[in-house]
Amino acid sequence: MLIVGLGPAGASLSCFLSEKGLDVVAVEMRPSKAEVACGEIIPERSSLAEAVSDEMLLSSVYRHVDEEIVRNRTDLLEFHLGGRVYEIDYRMLVLDRKKFINSYLDKAIELGMKPPMFSSAFTGFIRSGDKLKSRVITKEGTIYVRSKYLVGADGAFSRVAREAGLSSEMKPEDLAFGFRALASGRYEASSVIMKISPSRAPGGYLWVIPFEEGIANLGLGIRRSSPLWRSGREILLSFIGEIGAKSTSNVLGRHISVGGFPSRVVNGEVLLVGDAAGTCIPINGGGIFSAVMSSHIAAEHISAGDLNLYETRLRRDLFIVSLGLVYRRAADLVMYNEKFLKILARLIPSQIMRDALAMKKTLRTYPLMKLLSWVFLLKKTRSPVLVSRRTSSSTGLHCKAPKMLLI
Ligand SMILES: Cc1cc2nc3c(=O)[nH]c(=O)nc-3n(C[C@H](O)[C@H](O)[C@H](O)COP(=O)(O)OP(=O)(O)OC[C@H]3O[C@@H](n4cnc5c(N)ncnc54)[C@H](O)[C@@H]3O)c2cc1C
Repeated sequence: MLIVGLGPAGASLSCFLSEKGLDVVAVEMRPSKAEVACGEIIPERSSLAEAVSDEMLLSSVYRHVDEEIVRNRTDLLEFHLGGRVYEIDYRMLVLDRKKFINSYLDKAIELGMKPPMFSSAFTGFIRSGDKLKSRVITKEGTIYVRSKYLVGADGAFSRVAREAGLSSEMKPEDLAFGFRALASGRYEASSVIMKISPSRAPGGYLWVIPFEEGIANLGLGIRRSSPLWRSGREILLSFIGEIGAKSTSNVLGRHISVGGFPSRVVNGEVLLVGDAAGTCIPINGGGIFSAVMSSHIAAEHISAGDLNLYETRLRRDLFIVSLGLVYRRAADLVMYNEKFLKILARLIPSQIMRDALAMKKTLRTYPLMKLLSWVFLLKKTRSPVLVSRRTSSSTGLHCKAPKMLLI
């Protein structure tokens, strides 16, 4: 079993498969200590249980979450829209993302997985007999890994998906670019702030996530359909200044897929999990918990040797992703226009806003959102554009003589 990528999806899958007694090799192109752009926040279990009822899926996310991993707990979401501030009771956990990921890897290693290979990039595979032979560029040189299954846990621009013929067309509105920086300042430790701002974060939002006393994670997401995404760093720095905070880190940025599931996530013995499988929640760009849940589902199907039903189960059990896409498309009708947002803010009651933010399917919210999402699809104003993909050369790793690693 070869897992490509060690974000939340790949790390948790390593753990779930090791628990099932399978041999796992995991590769990650970043160095082990690399910082990653992320807000590092997930709903508290009780909040997420409003949208996901499956206890096993919930447990897959919260099983290692303890005081070591939780940086902060918040109970209020301050949602700024069209000049109105919605104060929404919603509990969330601010994680130490690295510790969260390591909690799964440590467990996998304890169960016998070889230590993961960092600074090692997957670049392609061929079928060789009844196995897959993958090429991985490491610091020491190129190696080939033979495995029965290959899992792409390699994020929004999955190289595995591309090599396996699983990448689908990405429209610019289905993709966002997120930036984050840490900044010292005076924050309300129990509140998360989300600001919809068409002029600064078109198709996305600005956020303030309090990490610990006097330090917060500030960031913004901008849809790739807006040219403003190229200026995201400057916009974030000016937002930091505007709220009287002081940046204490570099600005990091990364793509976020907000287009929901691609048309296929399995081809033969190759499958995708996490952002590679489009599990990020389109309405808010949060994808940590759903990445782990997708891995939990994948582990069951891999260990049963039956990948055919993985795709169907992923769509069914993670309906929250499709729901998020319906809500995002409905929101897209007004998201880019300050005047529309002002009107909307006068019309939308708190409860409906809460349903949408809590990713709930309720009778008072869903039918209207579904209708609006159809209107969005009918409009089809933006033409499909394929966004350029990373290549192995961008890893900066050099090839030496090939070695074989057989598993
Ligand atoms: C700025 C920003 C803020 C965010 N904030 C939040 C938040 O607060 N809460 C939340 O839930 N979600 C948030 N998200 C989304 C969340 O980070 C992702 O949904 C989540 O990380 C998906 O996990 P993953 O494991 O599927 O993919 P990733 O975390 O993207 O991990 C994929 C890994 O694969 C590696 N990789 C890629 N290609 C290769 C290759 N060829 N070979 C080897 N390795 C490879 C990458 O280096 C990466 O480490 C945020 C995203 C961004 C950009």
